[in-house]
Amino acid sequence: MSVLVHLCRTCDHQSAWHERGNGGYTSCRCCRAGTTEPDPAPTLLPTWTSPHGIREPLWEPGTQRNVGTMHASRTCDCAACHEAAAATTRREHPFAAPRLVGLSGR
Ligand SMILES: [Zn+2]
Ligand SMILES: [Zn+2]
Ligand SMILES: [Zn+2]
Repeated sequence: MSVLVHLCRTCDHQSAWHERGNGGYTSCRCCRAGTTEPDPAPTLLPTWTSPHGIREPLWEPGTQRNVGTMHASRTCDCAACHEAAAATTRREHPFAAPRLVGLSGR
């Protein structure tokens, strides 16, 4: 699934990496310090299905991911992310891959 993230202005890593508990996964000093100055504009991190190379749909802002695992996280819920998600969805809609229709609940 594609996600919207805010990148740290200091080190260019996702602001989520700066949160407590994630510091062990990176050797970046900025991330480990746990302070981030996220760019207010979200960045789209697209993912593609393998092997078909179809762009995967976007997590809605505020979606709980990986519930019940160590990596549980929530996608950012800020206004900028909602706006970016809406713009992305609008743009993608006409090209929505038919094979994904059954998964979207519609
Ligand atoms: Zn940083
Ligand atoms: Zn970093
Ligand atoms: Zn956001």
